[in-house]
Amino acid sequence: MSITVVGSVAFDAITTPFGSVEKALGGAATYFSVAASYFTPVRIVGVVGEDFGNEEMKIFEGRDIDVSGIEKVDGAKTFFWRGEYGYDLNVAHTKDTQLNVFADFRPKLGDLHRDPDILFLANIDPDLQYDVLQQAGRPKLVALDTMNYWIESKKPSLEKLMRSIDLMLINEAEVRQFSGEANLIKGAKAILSYGLDTLVVKRGEYGVLMFHDDKVFAVPAYPLENVFDPTGAGDTFAGGFLGYLASRKHMTEGELRRAIIFGSVVASYNVEAFSLDKLGKISRPEIEARYRAFRTLTHFDDFELEA
Ligand code: AMP
Repeated sequence: MSITVVGSVAFDAITTPFGSVEKALGGAATYFSVAASYFTPVRIVGVVGEDFGNEEMKIFEGRDIDVSGIEKVDGAKTFFWRGEYGYDLNVAHTKDTQLNVFADFRPKLGDLHRDPDILFLANIDPDLQYDVLQQAGRPKLVALDTMNYWIESKKPSLEKLMRSIDLMLINEAEVRQFSGEANLIKGAKAILSYGLDTLVVKRGEYGVLMFHDDKVFAVPAYPLENVFDPTGAGDTFAGGFLGYLASRKHMTEGELRRAIIFGSVVASYNVEAFSLDKLGKISRPEIEARYRAFRTLTHFDDFELEA
């Protein structure tokens, strides 16, 4: 199945307790497409400035990623995000967001990008996400990501969008922020009530909860001793999750669950180094090895309870 992603391609400045980088490659669409390309061909729609050169574009080379939908704007700068993490790596503190080229971006989907089987509306302005959705034809699955920045500044736009999509990925704190519910299950139900089939709640080092068909599927994150930079974990998760689904014929409950594990696997590799330094270098055998490790991690036998 084909997959199109629309979202940010960016430069990030990141500080974690373990170090910092000033101008690293980032962006939701960047992380997503590299992760998804381990499973399926991907097409990106996005925008960069003049400062995003051939060196930066190399991250997409040698992978099944179509970049013809990345527009380059002369005389303008690429989207920039500055984030900081304390010892609680689950919480990103946004210090600066410079929309730059995104401020005037009006995505135009060409023939290649229209009518994908799966459309991923990565984290950008919900009005732009809606605009893309209008142009996209009739994808089998439309998935949406967002963040606190948009929940705070554009909630009505987000709500309109949520009535027209199938699946949403959102992190735990954002569930509470969006719904005003302290309890995650109540918050998830409030979000599902917009008409979504599936909700994936990302909980950082605690893993993921998937709500689908009145069932909850819960997985831990892969236990890692060295977590350097959680930036992009959510987009990488989405790339593995939707990339795996796109590589399958049907989206059954079993496939959705396997997709959650593949998403968790690629996200676990991503956080082991800054930017895409690790994500860009993994292999299928490594992905499959960690997938099997997840089975061992979560396996337990049936147990006859004595009366
Ligand atoms: P994640 O850690 O998966 O939530 O996403 C991190 C990526 O999101 C970074 O590489 C940023 O460039 C990008 N990002 C941060 N803020 C925004 C925003 N307001 N709109 C679009 N992308 C953003």
